[in-house]
Amino acid sequence: MAFIFPEGQRFDCGSCTKCCRGAWNIHVDPASYEQVHGSGLYQKLEKAYGQPPMYMDEPEPGQKTALTLMHEGGCVFLDKDRLCSIHKFLGAKAKPLGCRQFPFVLRPTPDGTVVGVSFFCSAVQHNSGRPLPEHVEELEGLAKEYRHAGVGFRPISLYGDLTISWQSYKILEDMATSCLSIDDLRLGLWRVMVGTALSVGCLLRNGTTTPLASALQPTVSDEDLDRRLRAMPAVFVARDDVFESMERMFLIGIVGALESKNPEICKKNTEAIFYRGVVDSETFRCEIELKHFDDFRTRFDASWSTPHWKRYIDHLVFRKFLGLGRTVMANASALYMALPLLEFYRDLFAFVQNKLQPDLQDVYLAYDVVERGFTTHSRGMDPFFFEMADAFVNQVQQILKLQEMAS
Ligand code: SF4
Repeated sequence: MAFIFPEGQRFDCGSCTKCCRGAWNIHVDPASYEQVHGSGLYQKLEKAYGQPPMYMDEPEPGQKTALTLMHEGGCVFLDKDRLCSIHKFLGAKAKPLGCRQFPFVLRPTPDGTVVGVSFFCSAVQHNSGRPLPEHVEELEGLAKEYRHAGVGFRPISLYGDLTISWQSYKILEDMATSCLSIDDLRLGLWRVMVGTALSVGCLLRNGTTTPLASALQPTVSDEDLDRRLRAMPAVFVARDDVFESMERMFLIGIVGALESKNPEICKKNTEAIFYRGVVDSETFRCEIELKHFDDFRTRFDASWSTPHWKRYIDHLVFRKFLGLGRTVMANASALYMALPLLEFYRDLFAFVQNKLQPDLQDVYLAYDVVERGFTTHSRGMDPFFFEMADAFVNQVQQILKLQEMAS
């Protein structure tokens, strides 16, 4: 199956070891477990740390998975020379597949395998190294070895029980790409949500007996979308105050969930973010006083970040973020929230470091938080996105009804 590469993206590992210190659990596939478990290296580390360097976890009943032990925020196999000791002593092929494929995110589709990358990787963030198509040999090996989760081989969930075909999904994705091509990224993201909600609204009103692709086609064609957008009350198309408040509330909830996995601390943090109090932050591993944060944010213009955010958001759409896991409508909501979240963390990193204003390093640090905790592993945040999706679809349906009554 052919690979589909994103335009302009480069990568070559700079051995910064950030991915080995990502404060995430590293899954070990059975083949790697077999090679490492019981090796001399395994026994040596077990003795040194007083516990096995790999252990079994059961995140869901009956779903056993092996993980590597983390020590001081890093993988226990990372040695004092900042090298992977599995690679060093047992060979590159003995490493867990997740480590070997990072930062690639392979996504099989009916049109070919989409080659995405993780923006947690420093080389990806800096866009440094060879163009991705030059990694084709390595990618072919990875694609053969592992069955990656695909998109489009089965109907894709759009909203509630509604599903769409791969063809309809591609129409929606084209609509999203065209919405995101305008200079105002926030408005572009808003239009992605409006466009997706319009598709849902039209499908719901047309009934599910209409062939989905043809029902969706007129809904999201540029011309029709434009016409419908123009026919809508300006305040809705321009994001009204109610939505601004809703966005702020969702942002507070998402940051609260990101800053602690402990439900009690998460609750306290959410309140502290709301009232701009003191947050017990997992990201910064310390308490942060937010009293002067809003004041700090008014003192600079960081619009220079927009091309960086755009590169990331375009890449998320390219790597099929809209069609994965949740419904397309819920994913459009998550995509929309990625922007305020990136801006929040860019500014928070600068604030905590007592800078006068954020710089490029803070953009990269914001990518780290958002890519790791929000776009790749957004555990516990789905209710936010589904609620936002419901609010949107309900509003669009009301407007479609009004339009019908008026015509
Ligand atoms: S984060 Fe990227 S550049 Fe750094 S070690 Fe991992 S793959 Fe290499």
